Amino acid sequence: MKNPQIPSTQSIARFRFNRLFTILLAVVLGSCLVARAQAPIVDSPAIEAKAHAWLEKLTLEQKVELVGGVDGMFTNAQPAIGLTRLKMSDASVGVRTWGPTTAYAGGVALAATWDTGFARSLGESLGKDARARSVNFLLGPGVNIARSPVAGRNFEYLSEDPYLNATLVVPFIQGVQSQGVIATVKHYALNNQEYNRHNVSSDVDERTMREIYLPAFEAAVTQGHVDAVMNSYNLINGVHATQNEFLNLKVLKGEWGFQGILMSDWDATYDTVGAANNGLDLEMPGPRFMNPKALLAAIGSGSIKESTIDDKLLRIFRAVLRYGFLDRPQFDPSNSTYSVADRAVARQGALESITLLKNDGHLLPLDSTKIKTIAVIGPDAWPAVPGGGGSSEAQAFEPVSTVTGIANLVGPDVHLVYDRGLPEMTDVFSHTRWDGAVKVATYPSKDFTGTPEATTANAIADYKNEWDGPADKTPRSIRYTASYKAEKAGKYLVLAAASGSDDFTVRIDGKPLLSPPHVEGQAPQFWTIDLQAGQTVGVVTNYLPGFAGVRLGVGIAYQPDLVTEEAKKFASIADVVVVAAGFNTSTESEGLDRTFELPWGQDALIEAVAKANPHTIVTLTGGGGMDTRGWLDHVPALLHVWYPGQEGGTAIAEVLFGKHNPEGKLPVSFDRSWEENPSFNDYYPVKGADNVLHVTETDGKKNDYVIPHVKYADGLMVGYRYWTTTGKHPLYPFGFGLSYTTFSFANLQAPGLALIGTLAPNGISVSFDVTNTGSVEGAEVAQLYVSDPSAKGKRPERELKGFAKVRLAPGETKHVALTLDARSFSYWDDAAKKWTIDPGKFVIRVGDSSENTPLTSDVTLN
Ligand code: BGC
Repeated sequence: MKNPQIPSTQSIARFRFNRLFTILLAVVLGSCLVARAQAPIVDSPAIEAKAHAWLEKLTLEQKVELVGGVDGMFTNAQPAIGLTRLKMSDASVGVRTWGPTTAYAGGVALAATWDTGFARSLGESLGKDARARSVNFLLGPGVNIARSPVAGRNFEYLSEDPYLNATLVVPFIQGVQSQGVIATVKHYALNNQEYNRHNVSSDVDERTMREIYLPAFEAAVTQGHVDAVMNSYNLINGVHATQNEFLNLKVLKGEWGFQGILMSDWDATYDTVGAANNGLDLEMPGPRFMNPKALLAAIGSGSIKESTIDDKLLRIFRAVLRYGFLDRPQFDPSNSTYSVADRAVARQGALESITLLKNDGHLLPLDSTKIKTIAVIGPDAWPAVPGGGGSSEAQAFEPVSTVTGIANLVGPDVHLVYDRGLPEMTDVFSHTRWDGAVKVATYPSKDFTGTPEATTANAIADYKNEWDGPADKTPRSIRYTASYKAEKAGKYLVLAAASGSDDFTVRIDGKPLLSPPHVEGQAPQFWTIDLQAGQTVGVVTNYLPGFAGVRLGVGIAYQPDLVTEEAKKFASIADVVVVAAGFNTSTESEGLDRTFELPWGQDALIEAVAKANPHTIVTLTGGGGMDTRGWLDHVPALLHVWYPGQEGGTAIAEVLFGKHNPEGKLPVSFDRSWEENPSFNDYYPVKGADNVLHVTETDGKKNDYVIPHVKYADGLMVGYRYWTTTGKHPLYPFGFGLSYTTFSFANLQAPGLALIGTLAPNGISVSFDVTNTGSVEGAEVAQLYVSDPSAKGKRPERELKGFAKVRLAPGETKHVALTLDARSFSYWDDAAKKWTIDPGKFVIRVGDSSENTPLTSDVTLN
């Protein structure tokens, strides 16, 4: 290519055409060419020729340097062919490399918009932000299924439904890649929990994989033409993702024809030969296993072929050439690091995703002319909580908090009062008055053996919410011994938090509060204990840091004193109260699962406020459902705000005051309790099913990893598939969300009869009317579910197979047409190993949630 300044959108499209052309040609010309189409010759002849020419110029020694990353976030350079290194950056909610950026409503918030147009805009904005920062690879989108509400990274992912994920991921990827930036769909595959994420094996049958956990990846590859895929940390059916032949070679590169780069998650590689021979193209962040020394030895002994390395390099070279990375600077100053246009996209995402779940007596929308005093209370009211924690965390320029957003909207005529309502977690740690000094014994081992270094401290307050630093191999274990004297009789909160990769136990008078010990990926812990006035208890904490530095906090507080007097007073004098509760970067994050309960103290805060003021509105921040049982009946209004990005506060205010009619719809079912979630019994590994993985590092060091197995016994019954099949009802169903207007559905038209053979390639059309029957403008998401009552085997009662977001003026009707293709009616036949349609009756249902589908029509397929 001749030095095009700005991207390669058309060039990429052209090369895609060439790729498609090659495949079509192969199909037409018969089986020998089909075999060639599956060989890596798929780009334009010019690209192919150049990529091969580069390959030929390199010695084997130079080649093996290119399959491992460098400096944390780069691919390796190769001066012999003029190849510069390429930069990577996280991810779906903002380009975080490095410094402030625009933080969007991404991940689950994107899914709550149900808006493919917004997915495209979000991808484009992220692509532009990446170009403004010289980024070649965006390390997103994350598309893992929200199997369980406690999984720590649900907020980064999309939804519980494969069709919704697949439909949103395609425009998102196209948006990113249209800007000349490679999107990286992750984490392939079955990374559905943070608990022990490096070692745990997700054990799943093939049908469940194909129907639930793989379709978003499949769409990303086959429809979105994503150019990079990231393998996950976990194992799948006993084999790590980075060396999983079935997933990487058979499915991804074989069946789906993926021609891009398969990279590892950061330190997710476990074997040189296993990874190299089973599809991994790039080990990130550096070549611990696929390094020159180990690869050359393996090639020398014949266990890896040079052609296998060549294929990896050709994939990298083709991507470089396809995007023109060497022909133009990736840094594009026509895109700004601070973009006003991006702010509008961030605001759109927040407005479209905020989901109204309860609105008794039409308390909302609020009328600012009728309010003299508004109280805004709660830990999530200020500062803003644009996103969750971990590698996706983006530092927003000026994130708008709920307090600021409401204050800006109501102006000076409304008296606004604010209080956090609860102390900070770190305050509980540092303000705990231990009875005497805390004894700290630091052992030079990982098992509290050897001679400890003894010191004392006033508090156990080294907790910091920061991203894990570089691995520190120095063995260390620390024991904190303290005693606590209760001044009053009653309930006391015991709070303990550590970094997601640390292990710890807390014992009160010798009795463990946590059994077995906290392990990597487990949520921050809190307990309630009863103490008598004057009672003294011994508190012993054994702490095993996973990485360098200490990140531990342990504290005790008298529970009735937690909710502040200011919050109660403000609530009692206000006309209306907004309680902003939920999670934040330290309680919902990569590296740790979260609790289903709200973080400590928040139930008590909501109850106290609701008691003081009947006009209490609760806003919840979080990646999915949480326990509302303690107070939901006592509050008239509930808004779920997900992680709304930097413009969250503005959007929350606009929704509360009716400047924007809420339109978010749940992309996950909201359970009443964690126990009633279909994955509850199978979330943690099966006891006694562990096996040990022996890993020899390339420096000869031997490591044993215990592999616990999580059996996905819930199978296909994820989220609403479970609820609708069992006929039971969750608290709020998938697809549900209230509006300030009302909608009706009518006039469903579907063919009564169709031939299976005619479903491909055009499908059948189903159409219906949606009318805004209320008095304000609003948006409805019309959802189409398919049921297969005459299926030979068991299928979920209904499955989402189409949706459309319809924006309507009061009284307006729009006719919506959706297309159902062969996949809409198929299931994965495990015996035949293919997608199959059983002829017979199918039922099509249309409505505004998985549970409310007023339109129904039968279609018989023969
Ligand atoms: C995460 C990835 C991320 C990578 C680079 C890993 O810890 O799992 O999602 O892209 O770090 O930051």
